Amino acid sequence: MSASIEPWNINHHELPADGLYLEGEVNDSIFTFRAQDNIEFIAPLYYELEITRPQSDIEISANLQASFNYDCVRCLKNSRITITLENSQLCEPVQGHQTDITPFIAEEIILNFPDNPKCEHADTKTDCQWDTNYEHQEEDEESIKNEKNPWKELEDMVTTSSQEQKKS
Ligand SMILES: [Zn+2]
Repeated sequence: MSASIEPWNINHHELPADGLYLEGEVNDSIFTFRAQDNIEFIAPLYYELEITRPQSDIEISANLQASFNYDCVRCLKNSRITITLENSQLCEPVQGHQTDITPFIAEEIILNFPDNPKCEHADTKTDCQWDTNYEHQEEDEESIKNEKNPWKELEDMVTTSSQEQKKS
C-alpha cells in the first residue's frame, strides 16, 4: 500500500511563477512491491524537488535517495541497497487542478532499482555465498597456521623469572 505525501499533491494554481522548492524526508513507504520480490523500504526517503510548470506540463527536477532491503536473486542473501538520483528530470502532463507527484517519484526510484538484484548490487558489495565457500576454506587454513605457538608460554615464563631474579 503506497501512501500519498501531502506536500507532493501539487495545486497548479498555487505554484509560484519561479517554481516551488521542496525538501525533506518521508518515512512512509510510497513503493509497491510484489510480495514474492521480498523488497522492503528502509525509511526515510530523502528528497529535494524543484517543481515548475512552464507549459501544460509539470516539470520536476529531483534529488532522491532511498534504501531498501532485498534478497539476492542468485543466493537469497539479504542485503541493503541505496538508490541515489541526482538531478532527475521528470515531466508529467497536467490534469485538472492538482497533480499528485507521489507515484512519479516512486516510479523514478524503482526504474533505477536493478531488475535482478544480486549481492554485487549491495551497498557493501559481496560475492554470492556459494562463490565464497572456497575463501572460507582458505581462512580456516590460515587460522590453523596462526594457532598459538606452544613454546610461547614457556618462553614468557623464562623471561619473567629471569627479570625477577635481577630485581632481587
Ligand atoms: Zn548473492
